[in-house]
Amino acid sequence: MKVYKNIMKIRQINSQIEYAVELLKAGELVAFPTETVYGLGADAGNQIALNKIFKVKGRPKNHPLILHIASISQIENYAVNVPDLAYKLAEKFWPGPLTLILERGENTSKLLTGQQDTVALRIPNHPVALALLEGFGGAIAAPSANRFGRISPTTAKHVEDEFGKNIALILDGGASQVGLESTILNLSSKQLQILRPGQVSSKQLAKLIGYQPLTASQYETTIKSPGMLKSHYSPLTPSSLKSRIELQKIIKKQDTNIGIICHSIEPDGLDNSIKIENNPATYAQKLYASLRQLDRLDLNHIYIEEPESNSDWLAIKDRLLRATQ
Ligand code: AMP
Ligand code: MG
Repeated sequence: MKVYKNIMKIRQINSQIEYAVELLKAGELVAFPTETVYGLGADAGNQIALNKIFKVKGRPKNHPLILHIASISQIENYAVNVPDLAYKLAEKFWPGPLTLILERGENTSKLLTGQQDTVALRIPNHPVALALLEGFGGAIAAPSANRFGRISPTTAKHVEDEFGKNIALILDGGASQVGLESTILNLSSKQLQILRPGQVSSKQLAKLIGYQPLTASQYETTIKSPGMLKSHYSPLTPSSLKSRIELQKIIKKQDTNIGIICHSIEPDGLDNSIKIENNPATYAQKLYASLRQLDRLDLNHIYIEEPESNSDWLAIKDRLLRATQ
């Protein structure tokens, strides 16, 4: 009985993917799951479809999109002067949450790259995304499936809440396993730079590269990256980060008009509080859903416990600082 059910499920997914491929080829937008967050996908070779992404998201045109591809051999369709290191990194981390910034190929439209001469590429690690890319055959441009500046979606329901019927289809692949956007590594600069921290850490990259890539505080860049805006990934409710001690004092007041997200202390039964497991991988998985849950409650303020200052929490802290600006 169990096997039969699974076969049904696979058939359903296959027919949905065929339908999604048809829609993409017809220039429609299809949201799909990845291991990082849900993406809002369009045919990377169709200018009309790409324009729809910017319109639906309310995203400024100078903010580039990530191209999702199905295999390493497709890199050269979109990038030129690809260094050997890019292939080594791709072999090691793809499919996975690492985006590589490379020199833009002649046929890669500037609408994809925010008018810049670099292009962002990644193979996502999710069976539905991979099946979609395989079926589609070319690159799918996909920023996160949220309105510009808002919290990235980690479930199909979040995408529906963002766009409703404004997009043709949402493929539901369950909750995203990583929960935070990909690490972005710039290979087009003289010295490698991490433009956005993510689950693939600087330490892991250094093991393969031989040295630590520069991080945001160590370089000046003219590259436009919305993920680098100070305020991004934000709930509508005013939010701030608080130390453990400050947060304990706030919890004691038992104010029912505030929300709390904590991980190392107890919320003491306070209404509208969420305690996430004190482990960076689980915390990353749950963070955006938790912010969305509290943001719906029309609270006066959301207080979030500041995470530790070590490399395991770096990507989380980066997003929290932006969410609380
Ligand atoms: P999102 O998928 O919504 O997180 O947005 C895509 C992210 O990739 C943004 O932070 C972009 O700035 C970044 N990105 C895409 N293409 C480039 C590029 N050519 N150079 C620098 N960053 C890029
Ligand atoms: Mg985004």
